[in-house]
Amino acid sequence: MMQENEIRERIEQVKKKIEEAAKKSGRNAEDITLIAVTKTVEVPAILQALQCGIKAVGENRVQELCRKHQQIEHDVDWHLIGHLQTNKIKQVLPFANLIHSVDSLHLLDALEKEALTQNRDVKILLQVNVSGEESKFGISPNQAMNFAECVAGKQKIQLCGLMTVPPPVAQPYENKPYFAKLKQLAFQIEQEHYQHVNMDILSMGMSGDYTAAIEEGATMVRVGTSIFGARIYAANQQ
Ligand SMILES: *Cc1c(COP(=O)(O)O)cnc(C)c1O
Repeated sequence: MMQENEIRERIEQVKKKIEEAAKKSGRNAEDITLIAVTKTVEVPAILQALQCGIKAVGENRVQELCRKHQQIEHDVDWHLIGHLQTNKIKQVLPFANLIHSVDSLHLLDALEKEALTQNRDVKILLQVNVSGEESKFGISPNQAMNFAECVAGKQKIQLCGLMTVPPPVAQPYENKPYFAKLKQLAFQIEQEHYQHVNMDILSMGMSGDYTAAIEEGATMVRVGTSIFGARIYAANQQ
């Protein structure tokens, strides 16, 4: 496991880069939320990150999120950032403050149904595949507007913005066109003023490209490797 001061230094470095990217694009660093992605990271390292000022944590698997939620007593802002299967909705709704990875009408319907059952308001982002072939998940950009229109007809769902996962790149700027495309799409959706829909959040940018994402308007960046180091996966994970 990494030493506490190593995690601290890495977080400081990421925060510095966030500030620089914000400044470069005439934005305020306070308007950008750093989500520490803790998939495969064990509780002691997460606690260290929380001690270093991290407040928002992102997990991509429901079981892992629920387990860690139970083990960590701190007041943490939990985000689900990975693909969500309908049979896991019931379990995760009480614990995830924002679900970044909603990418189908089928999932939207299932979320509404369970949200009504639990009498819980649910905040989501629509995951959009703006980079084409290379991403497995995400709705296609031309279906995004229809999705937003459908949210307007729901009672317990609030669509708060868009999220994307572009391909890994060698240089952050290579993904700029995709980030710009997501922002443009958010702008178009916002113009429609659908009920229960706002485009306050743009969740884009990971360790390899978060500076470029910020320059293109990201309000949430999801950073794992640059904080916790390379992930070590168990054999049954990917
Ligand atoms: C793992 C993951 C991240 C973080 O990736 P890093 O490259 O380690 O920063 C961000 N978003 C999603 C959806 C992820 O699954």
